[in-house]
Amino acid sequence: MAGCLAGKVVLVTGAASGIGRATALACAREGARVVVADTAAAGGEETVARIRQAGGEARFVRADVTRAAEVEALVAEAVAAYGRLDCAHNNAGIEGPLAPTAEYPEEAWDRVLAVNLKGVWLCMKYEIAQMLRQGGGAIVNTASLAGLVGARRLAAYVASKHGVVGLTRAAALEYAKAGIRVNAVCPGIIRTAMVQRMFLERNPQAEERLAASEPMGRLGTPEEVAEAVVWLCSDAASFVTGHALSVDGGLAAQ
Ligand code: NAD
Repeated sequence: MAGCLAGKVVLVTGAASGIGRATALACAREGARVVVADTAAAGGEETVARIRQAGGEARFVRADVTRAAEVEALVAEAVAAYGRLDCAHNNAGIEGPLAPTAEYPEEAWDRVLAVNLKGVWLCMKYEIAQMLRQGGGAIVNTASLAGLVGARRLAAYVASKHGVVGLTRAAALEYAKAGIRVNAVCPGIIRTAMVQRMFLERNPQAEERLAASEPMGRLGTPEEVAEAVVWLCSDAASFVTGHALSVDGGLAAQ
């Protein structure tokens, strides 16, 4: 398949749903062979099925990004299947409960940080080791608008996403000379299962309120984030590293 990722092997975590699924599909459309990783097997297999239906190449690997051994095995399986690893979208994430900082449950704090921040670091740890052996690569981490500004009742999420932006910048500096680019995307409010759980299920009027807070007057789509990830992964972004790219319809510009 021709495209801006032709011949490349891309690993996407959290690819059973939402932004990760959209990225996996977009990367396959651009010619990449895609490793679809998630804890959710049914959704992951569905992503693979959609890629194959469209004529692309993909495989599902079940992996929990909080477990080092599973992440190590995931990268090893990608390389065993496709011979290399060119790009990775470290995207798996959870929102955690909504609660003020002083009332935030400790267990939930640990879980949100484990998935959203340690998970991204563990993925980078094994991806970078492989990319160094190959002489380069491109990594895109999913941070958030909440990685750039605060948000009420989401302390662990906000802290984890600010951490992802910092981790992205640190790794970008360390591996720039080794040919590995490391960037982040900072989605605004994107219509996915996560936003459904956080806002829309709780309050039927939430969508109108969220859309009204957006300069463009609407929520974003997973596909709109995926296009930014594809570009950051591609050679078209060859001089872009250490960047946190907002894909938020202008929300952070307010
Ligand atoms: P989603 O819930 O649709 O997808 C998240 C996926 O991550 C799910 O398939 C889930 O099974 C997987 N996952 C969760 N924990 C995992 C683990 N430990 N190991 C492997 N996979 C795991 O949500 P989404 O909106 O597509 O979110 C994707 C990313 O985008 C997250 O990091 C999220 O924080 C971020 N984000 C989302 C929005 C938004 O508005 N939807 C905004 C900013 C950032």
